Amino acid sequence: MLAMPSAAALLEVWETGEREHAIDRALTLLQAFTGEPRAALAALGLHRRDALLVQSRILAFGPRLAGVAVCSSCACEVEVELQLSAPGDDELRDGGSLEVRGQTVAYRVPNSYDLAAVATAGDTTAGAAVLRSRCIEAGEPLDEETLAKAEQALETLCVPATIEVATTCPACDVPFAPVVDIGSILWRELNAYARRLLDDVDALATKYGWSERAILALPDARRQRYLEGAW
Ligand SMILES: [Zn+2]
Repeated sequence: MLAMPSAAALLEVWETGEREHAIDRALTLLQAFTGEPRAALAALGLHRRDALLVQSRILAFGPRLAGVAVCSSCACEVEVELQLSAPGDDELRDGGSLEVRGQTVAYRVPNSYDLAAVATAGDTTAGAAVLRSRCIEAGEPLDEETLAKAEQALETLCVPATIEVATTCPACDVPFAPVVDIGSILWRELNAYARRLLDDVDALATKYGWSERAILALPDARRQRYLEGAW
């Protein structure tokens, strides 16, 4: 069950996350919102991780997501907006298998451990090979065609948790659908929130002489009321 972390806890997440790789940062965010052990969160398929990140974002900042996407055809900037919703658990499957010429090929959705292994693999080709070796299993080496089929089946499992913003460029009329990286969006928003919070602490501490701890313990709405009187 997700719960909104306190202002002080969000500041701690921000301080920890600033020093982390994006893979770890997503886990730090989720630890704060879910209270689950880090190892369990790291073992979640990326589709489940992203579904939890969506739920966390909705809890912290609401479902409306607005931003700017760059047209894939003419590079024009297009304003986009969507309402976020997380897929239900029953929509998500972690793996499956294919029968190819009498051989069983099992596949599963990558998790954060797999992503970390890919990140240290060197280049994109080596990363793809690492991902295949970790997430696609068969009794003997597979040909390219079978591997491609398994990869496609695996990608299909991730579809319910993929957030696409389907739009059409007003300048060149070409439709495009950028994929939203919910982890980096939530991190950017938390970053902005933390900086605002520190400014608020500074203003209220200067005006009233309260401690950081006391100011952070105030509910957001009450902190805002005091700020209105502080300037
Ligand atoms: Zn365009």
